[in-house]
Amino acid sequence: MTILFVNAWVLTLDEAMSEHNPGWVQVDGTTITGLGGGEPPSIAGAEIVDCGGDIVMPGMVNTHCHMGMAVFRGLGEDVDDRLYRYILPLERKFVSPEMVRVGSALSALEMIQGGVTTVTDMYYFEQEVGRVAAASGLRAIVGQTLADFQPPDHRNWDEGFALVEALVDEFAGHPLVTASIAPHAPYSTGRATMERVAQWSADHPNIPVQMHLAESDLEVRWAQDNHGCSTVEVTREAGLLKPNLICAHCLQLDHADITMMAEAQVCVATNPRSNGKAGRGIAPVEALRNAGLPVGLGSDGAMSGNTLDLFAQFAPVSMFAKLLGKSRRPLPARDVVQMATIEGARVLGLNLQTGSLEPGKQADLIRISLAAPRLHPIYDPYSALVFAAMPGDVLDTMVAGRWLMRNRQMQTLEPKKALRDALQIAEQFRAEMVLLDEQKA
Ligand SMILES: [Zn+2]
Repeated sequence: MTILFVNAWVLTLDEAMSEHNPGWVQVDGTTITGLGGGEPPSIAGAEIVDCGGDIVMPGMVNTHCHMGMAVFRGLGEDVDDRLYRYILPLERKFVSPEMVRVGSALSALEMIQGGVTTVTDMYYFEQEVGRVAAASGLRAIVGQTLADFQPPDHRNWDEGFALVEALVDEFAGHPLVTASIAPHAPYSTGRATMERVAQWSADHPNIPVQMHLAESDLEVRWAQDNHGCSTVEVTREAGLLKPNLICAHCLQLDHADITMMAEAQVCVATNPRSNGKAGRGIAPVEALRNAGLPVGLGSDGAMSGNTLDLFAQFAPVSMFAKLLGKSRRPLPARDVVQMATIEGARVLGLNLQTGSLEPGKQADLIRISLAAPRLHPIYDPYSALVFAAMPGDVLDTMVAGRWLMRNRQMQTLEPKKALRDALQIAEQFRAEMVLLDEQKA
C-alpha cells in the first residue's frame, strides 16, 4: 500500500536541512520510499493525502519521560515539600502495574496528539509501559528503573535486575519497543551498583542505559562527601560513562565534567520546563552541543513538567540559552527543531531509523496545520514551530507507516477510556491527600 502526501511544506531535517514547498512524501509499508519538490510521481492505487500547504516533518522524539506518572500531573503544585508530603507516600501506596498502565495510556494519548512519535521512558513496572507503547503504536525505549529508596516493584538489586531481564526478554526483536536499563541516579543507586550496571551493560551492548545525572545540589554534595569528586566522575569511575548512556538533566556541570562526557561520547536529554519549574538550574545546552554531545529534548514526567509534547519545551530551552548567553543568538529555532527530531534520535541511537524524512527511513512523520492565526504569516517555518505552534495544531501522526492519529482522530487508543481511568485514580489520590494533610496538621 502506497500513501502519497502531496501539496505539503516538507521539512526533511536531513543533513542539508532540505525543504520542499510544495513537496511530496511517498510511504510504502513502514518506510519512506521517496520525497521531493514539484510534481509528485503518479502511482496507480496510491492513497493521496492532500496536505493543503500544511507542514509535513519528522515525528518528534521525547528523550526523557516517566509515562506512568501522568496521574500525578500538577499534584501539590506549589507545595515546597510535596515530594515527602504527598508524592512518596502516594507512590508507596498506589504505584502498581494497573496504575502504571493507566498513566502510560494517558501519556501515550497526549504524546500522539502532540506530535511525538518516539519516547524514552524510565519508571517502575516497565513491562506495562512497553505493552502500552506497543499497543499505541509509538516507537519507544522503555527503561526499568533501579533505585535504593524502597521503590514499588523491587526490594533489592537482584529483584531489580530480574525485572530488567524480564523486560529484555519480552521485547527482544520487537519492531518498535526497545528495552533499557535505568539506574535512577548516582546518589540513589550507589557506586557499587553502578559498577554492576556497567558490567551488565558490557554484556548487553545493544541495550541503552538511562540515568538522571547532575540534577541537583544534593547530588553534587553526595558525590563530594562520599567520593571527593563530581557526580560525573563517580559515574565514569564506575564504568558507566559510555556511548550508550542517555544522561537526563545535566544541570550541575563544570568544564571538566563536559570534557569527560564528550570524551566518553555520552548523550544528553535536557528537560527545560521541568528544571525551570523546580528552580533547579539551567542545563548548559550550548556548551554541551559545542563539545560535540548530542542533546535531545525531554518532557520529564507530567508531575514535574505537566505536559508531554515537545512544543512546550521549545520556548524554555531557547530562552534559557539566550538568557545564559545574554543574546538573541544562542540556540536558533532550527537547532531547537533539530534537537526535537534528528538530534533526539541520535541521543537514542535511533538516527538511522527515525528523526528525519529520508528515503529508506521509517515513516515516522507528523502533519501540522498552519490554519491558526498564530501561524500567520510565516517567514521561517522553524521560528513558527518553536515560538508559535501548539500541540493542537498537529493533525496527523504516523509511526512506521501506521496512522496513530488522523485528522485529530485517534486510531490506536480509546481517548475516553484513557481519561476516565486516569480520573478514577485521581479520586483515590485526592482522598489519600486529605488523610495526609490531617496527619500533618
Ligand atoms: Zn526524570
